[in-house]
Amino acid sequence: MNPSFSSYLVNDVFGDPGVFVEVRWSKRALLFDLGENAALGPTRLLRANDIFVSHTHMDHFIGFDKLLRVALGRGKTLRLYGPPGLIANVHGKLTGYTWNLVNGSPLSITVREFHPCEIKQAAFFATDGFARHEDPPQPRQTGGTGAFPVLEDPMFTVLAVPLNHRVPSFGYALQEQFHINVNKQRLHDAGLPVGSWLKDVKQYLWQGKPDDFRFTATLYFEHHRQDLEFVLGEVRERFLTITRGQKIAYVVDARYDDENEAKIVDLARGADVFYCEAPYLDRDADKAYERYHLTARQAGLMARKADVRELVVFHFSPRYTGMGKEIVREAMEAFKG
Ligand SMILES: [Zn+2]
Ligand SMILES: [Zn+2]
Repeated sequence: MNPSFSSYLVNDVFGDPGVFVEVRWSKRALLFDLGENAALGPTRLLRANDIFVSHTHMDHFIGFDKLLRVALGRGKTLRLYGPPGLIANVHGKLTGYTWNLVNGSPLSITVREFHPCEIKQAAFFATDGFARHEDPPQPRQTGGTGAFPVLEDPMFTVLAVPLNHRVPSFGYALQEQFHINVNKQRLHDAGLPVGSWLKDVKQYLWQGKPDDFRFTATLYFEHHRQDLEFVLGEVRERFLTITRGQKIAYVVDARYDDENEAKIVDLARGADVFYCEAPYLDRDADKAYERYHLTARQAGLMARKADVRELVVFHFSPRYTGMGKEIVREAMEAFKG
């Protein structure tokens, strides 16, 4: 199986937290958290249009400036999602600079912050010096304390859950609706080429088009191109296999208590990769609790309960510099039992 998402940490395990997720074959990416992110470089930063912020402590938000700097002057929209207060924080960042000479820049930024009962949204445009434009709040469809969708795309959903970090810190899960595998051998046997027409087929399936949906695709053979008509259901039957979608969970900055644990385990359940903070060793569990953070052992225990396939621990405290392996070992011991 060729996974649709490839994900990795933005920095070293002792650096600012963040995970970059590339949506393969699409020049599109998602970014979880906005800590120091110079390591991504401009190309990857520019690809990340949807950015999910856990909370705005400095180590999770200082990279906003870098992103703004590379995006300025580009005709794009940055979409930020996060907990209450995010709009004011973005506005604060933007008012920290002088914008009298950027009127020609087409950059826009939209920010959606999720409150228990409503969603607030604001937009900022370079063309008017990033003045704050607020839309009327919308009621949140899903109430309760569990995870709720913050972004619904035909291909995937991003869910968030507020965790107690003395301020709300959002944990996130990226869930692919379902995974589409192309059987290249069968295509080959039928004399059909691979190519961008298969991307369109995937889009139709993610959009939920019916089996009898007919479409015309341009196929590029070795020496010629040809327009052919297909029926979606037949293409699926003959050349595709649909399997369970990929899931990636991201949790940072949360205290280990019953409520947080239940929410985290629920959010990460069955994930292919679970990125979980582990700033402390368990011998310092008291300090971790006081500072509203997890220990490596706690991260491992929750990964085990959530039955994830792979655990990646990060966001290590500088107090353990040189002891990274010990933190990983503690987490893996608790994870594998
Ligand atoms: Zn924090
Ligand atoms: Zn942090």
